[in-house]
Amino acid sequence: MVFAHDTEEALQSAAALVNTAQTPDVLMSVEDLATFYVDQGWKGQHAGDAEELEQVRALRPILRRMWLDGTEGQVECINGMLRTASALPQIVRHDEFDWHLHATTPDEPLAVRMAVEAAMAMVDVIRMGETERLKMCDAESCEHIFADLSRNRSRRYCSVSCSNRMAAAAYRTRQSDTEEAAAADESARTMSDQTMSAQTMSGQTNQEQ
Ligand SMILES: [Zn+2]
Ligand SMILES: [Zn+2]
Repeated sequence: MVFAHDTEEALQSAAALVNTAQTPDVLMSVEDLATFYVDQGWKGQHAGDAEELEQVRALRPILRRMWLDGTEGQVECINGMLRTASALPQIVRHDEFDWHLHATTPDEPLAVRMAVEAAMAMVDVIRMGETERLKMCDAESCEHIFADLSRNRSRRYCSVSCSNRMAAAAYRTRQSDTEEAAAADESARTMSDQTMSAQTMSGQTNQEQ
């Protein structure tokens, strides 16, 4: 584990939220948000109305910018979010969850809690000097972001599907390189055969002359 459990979960949840904005946008309706809320294990205040949806959607580009920005920009964004929400860190233990930080109360609007939870997780990332773990997928035509929680910070792709896709593409490239090389070999051989026979023929001609 690179960060505390709640930090890692919050980072993954923030990335998941940001990634809903990629084409096709999968956070278009109140129902979409209800599904996301359940899938991501959110608890507490959930209005389920259009206003909430708008607030959550509007948070996505902000979190994305924060993810990919330099440290100065990240810090400014984090502090802004914590200030706006009047975040008050409290260490708590509830349900099946061991000690972790809450910085909002469960009755705050969902978008506010999402923002604060992401900001609090970012605080840890910055303090530990681990911002290079906040990445964008390396795969062609994928702009998903992810938190690289691997031991040696070597993860390049957002998902198994992207890493499979890129592995298949690399395989095809190698394959066609091999085929091209084989074809080049073949044509070189054919040419030298032709040259040889031409030489032989011209040799004969010369001899005849
Ligand atoms: Zn909690
Ligand atoms: Zn990807």
